[in-house]
Amino acid sequence: MLFRIRKIYCVVLIILVVMLSSSMRGEAMSPFLRIRVVFDNVQYSKQLNTAWGFSCIIEGMSKVILFDTGADGNILLGNMRKIGFNPQKVDAVFLSHVHGDHIGGLQAFLQQNPKVVVYLPASFPASVKESITALGGEFREVAAPQKVFDHVYTTGELGSWIIEQSLIIQTPKGLVIVTGCAHPGVAQIVSRVKQWLKEEVYVLMGGFHLKGESPSELRRIGAELKALGVKRVAPSHCTGEEARELFRQLWGPDFIESGVGAVIEIQ
Ligand SMILES: [Zn+2]
Ligand SMILES: [Zn+2]
Repeated sequence: MLFRIRKIYCVVLIILVVMLSSSMRGEAMSPFLRIRVVFDNVQYSKQLNTAWGFSCIIEGMSKVILFDTGADGNILLGNMRKIGFNPQKVDAVFLSHVHGDHIGGLQAFLQQNPKVVVYLPASFPASVKESITALGGEFREVAAPQKVFDHVYTTGELGSWIIEQSLIIQTPKGLVIVTGCAHPGVAQIVSRVKQWLKEEVYVLMGGFHLKGESPSELRRIGAELKALGVKRVAPSHCTGEEARELFRQLWGPDFIESGVGAVIEIQ
């Protein structure tokens, strides 16, 4: 009898532990994601300064991420100051590709906060890697697609001419993909992410690199992104005004106006 009671007690205990651990896993899934664009040539907020390039702050995950750094550290840090963001809060810097309009602000940022890990494509020149360690920062080379930390992934190095990585954030509503310039092709990036993670794309944001494309090519890419099931788009930087206007029409209420000062929040 005593043995049976002990057995039941054990089973109940195991069930409780399983329930508790699964609810804890649920809590680890970020209920709130906030992305603030702090560097962009597209103006959203008149309070912030614009210049060619892209950078955004991603909060709500286990670590605060700075995605790219724009072209100019003074503008980047000045915009952070204007929105009341302390650069020391950043834990990780994610660099999409080596172009100056994405890494130009890195040195000035590291001078303010060297206690960060910089995730960069492994193919970056040694000079960039050395400049990070010289300022007291750490770097991690990314080649293959991989998990960066909980609910945050990188596509790894994509493209053959200009190597670029995109950042992926897993949210309860679907994936959020952030692209720097999307040099490997914005639709190709989304397609690779879907094949790999097998989840729907809720928001696609950043530079789509469509400036100067013909209207028919823009329509083809728009249709491809629609066919890939991209629910919402927030294009800025090198997307170009023609593409942004077309996507505004195609996505209607699911088009998110982006640019420097834009805040994208996902509950
Ligand atoms: Zn760019
Ligand atoms: Zn570029």
